[in-house]
Amino acid sequence: MEYDVIIVGSGFAGSTLARKFAEDDKKVLIYEKRDHIAGNMYEEERENKVRVHKYGPHIFHTNNKEVFEFLNQYGQWYFYEHRVLGKIKDKLVPIPFNFKSLELLYEQKEAEEIKAKLLEKYKDKTKISILDLVNDEDTTIKEFGNFVYKNVFENYTAKQWNIPVSEIDTSVINRVPVILGYDDRYFQDEYQYMPKEGYTKLFENMLNHSNITIKLSTDVLSDISIDNNKIYYKGEEYKGKVIYTGAIDELFHYQFGALPYRSLNLIFENYDINYYQPTSVVNYPNEEDYTRITEFKYLTNQLVDNKTTILKEYPKSYDYKDEESIPYYAIINDENLQKYNQYFELAKEIPNLYLCGRLAEYKYYNMDAVIERALELYKEVRD
Ligand code: UDP
Repeated sequence: MEYDVIIVGSGFAGSTLARKFAEDDKKVLIYEKRDHIAGNMYEEERENKVRVHKYGPHIFHTNNKEVFEFLNQYGQWYFYEHRVLGKIKDKLVPIPFNFKSLELLYEQKEAEEIKAKLLEKYKDKTKISILDLVNDEDTTIKEFGNFVYKNVFENYTAKQWNIPVSEIDTSVINRVPVILGYDDRYFQDEYQYMPKEGYTKLFENMLNHSNITIKLSTDVLSDISIDNNKIYYKGEEYKGKVIYTGAIDELFHYQFGALPYRSLNLIFENYDINYYQPTSVVNYPNEEDYTRITEFKYLTNQLVDNKTTILKEYPKSYDYKDEESIPYYAIINDENLQKYNQYFELAKEIPNLYLCGRLAEYKYYNMDAVIERALELYKEVRD
């Protein structure tokens, strides 16, 4: 067998591991179902020259120096701090909700009172979970918490997940805190940069290595099968490593049922104007059917005159039987995690199979967290 490692999927999990093994002088074969690399980070230029993130906005941020240094080898980056506004009561206010949002939506006297109470109660904090605010004993803080909960989280979450906000795993809600001050950045991480030439180019550079072969538009299950805890490649037992970053339920033929995900209907619109909105992302937590609008020129740092492209995201259910349907977000709850664990137990019995990434591990990973996990896995399993 000519390949030491077979990797399934070319998103950040698969591509990071491919590069690490390739540099270790291992021959790597990547299977990619789609006709392009880079997973959901894939970018393409539209006819109006605006580059868009085909599978929705991907904004890079991390506190992990090792992750950033790893990525830095594959392209130049530009400093980009993500700022989001949300349409609340017909005003555009900073999201995460901060003191400026408070001042825009409350009368001055009341706003001053709430800010003073928050600063006194949470002296040593710069941000706090909305769940802590709604459970606060102080009536003023609690009422403020309920206001933010209702106007920022309740309807957005119901749209995004199609379940009441009370049933969402707290880790999901806590991705978006309330800021105790005027910091209006969406993320507070130390490293906030975007790839200068876009993600697709970054992935091309990462995968450009003589030890890496990529098979595009190929379903791995047409070449690989599992029997009796052994992996077979084109009918022969394969003793190298298989790193699987695809959907784990698909690998095991949905034998315990499909793992539930949320999906998105992504609607791109072109306009012959310079800019459509004042910032890269505007969230629509309430009246609209979409959750947010992204304007890509802000993310790609492009100067395209009088042309712009926006994206509206309409959440929808995921259907594993529909080839067009894309699993974007794992729906984390006890029942689904139990189902995942059944698959995980099967995978564990196969000594040369390794799982990595959002779909293989059924996790709501950020990009940096996936790369961190891939780098750790590499350290664990390299010879
Ligand atoms: N969220 C919300 N209102 C907002 C933004 C986020 O209720 O204006 C909640 C919602 O449940 C969402 C979660 O916070 O699914 C995580 O938001 P994030 O922006 O991190 O989602 P992603 O960019 O991963 O889609």
